[in-house]
Amino acid sequence: MRKLLAKVEDGRFGRALAGFVAGWQWECKVRREGEVHGLIRYSGKEYRVVIAGRRARCSCADFAARGLFCKHIGVCGCGGAGRCRPEVPRRQPPPRPGGKFG
Ligand SMILES: [Zn+2]
Repeated sequence: MRKLLAKVEDGRFGRALAGFVAGWQWECKVRREGEVHGLIRYSGKEYRVVIAGRRARCSCADFAARGLFCKHIGVCGCGGAGRCRPEVPRRQPPPRPGGKFG
């Protein structure tokens, strides 16, 4: 499973997701058609991520130095952006009792 994720986009995406589940906080600031602004916080740091259309930007050094999509953008575009949409929790049918109680 871990290896499978690592294959995706040179490991970047896999690491992003790994970080996300390891306690990153995503705070959505703006969300509209084709545009997402938000903050990612972890380890006392804060990164501002902006995705607008097909462009994206992040306040981290990784992005500033190389101009590449960093893991924060990955999270914003995938996990984070999906999260800030108010989702109606999918109702699941209650598990059927195996038998009668009493
Ligand atoms: Zn970044």
